Amino acid sequence: MAQLLLVEDDAQVRAALTRALTERGHAVTSASAGMPGLTRAVADRPDLVVLDLGLPDLDGCEVLRMLRAVSAVPVIVATARDDEPEIVRALDAGADDYVVKPFSAAHLDARIRAVLRRGRDADDDGTAPVAVGGLRIEPAAREATLDGTPLGLTPKEFDLLHYLAVRPGQVVSKRELLTEVWRMAYGGADKTVDVHLSWLRRKLGESAQAPRYLQTVHGVGVKIVDPGA
Ligand code: CA
Repeated sequence: MAQLLLVEDDAQVRAALTRALTERGHAVTSASAGMPGLTRAVADRPDLVVLDLGLPDLDGCEVLRMLRAVSAVPVIVATARDDEPEIVRALDAGADDYVVKPFSAAHLDARIRAVLRRGRDADDDGTAPVAVGGLRIEPAAREATLDGTPLGLTPKEFDLLHYLAVRPGQVVSKRELLTEVWRMAYGGADKTVDVHLSWLRRKLGESAQAPRYLQTVHGVGVKIVDPGA
């Protein structure tokens, strides 16, 4: 169970989610707008925040940026529709995951548990071996194998694969990859990510048209999945 903060202006949705998440064993507090949400996030110190992006007082991404300035709490944003620019903006502003309305409490709960699990996994020092399906990554030795065969990755390909592999199922934006893997600001160099992804795909024996491990989420980013799962 986790301590959750739900920021949602729709009273009906707020009540229904609070009830459903409480039934699933979480402790839920809520706020009906951005400013009270920020206040609660600081006062209640929740394990995770579910943040509706369509709020009456502040833009949801603005709330997220203000929250990120004071807290590293995991945040799942809820968007009204499948709005890619909005999702990208939210991921860039520091959201850990997103759900598109309408979503079920069961779906949200699964996302909540996945984000909290990732947070725990990320507490190690980055040298723990990682496995996704038939992929094995040994950060200490900087070795990666697929079904036991060494992949022969370049340093950047290795860093890119490792960054994605410690976040299985999580969509990572190209901007985040440029910032975190290349330590570069986003701009004209965004093709860098595409090029390295295509090299990595080739070494994994797949392509953007026939993906297995590396799944592009169009307009949002890329995620790694276990193709056998
Ligand atoms: Ca709303």
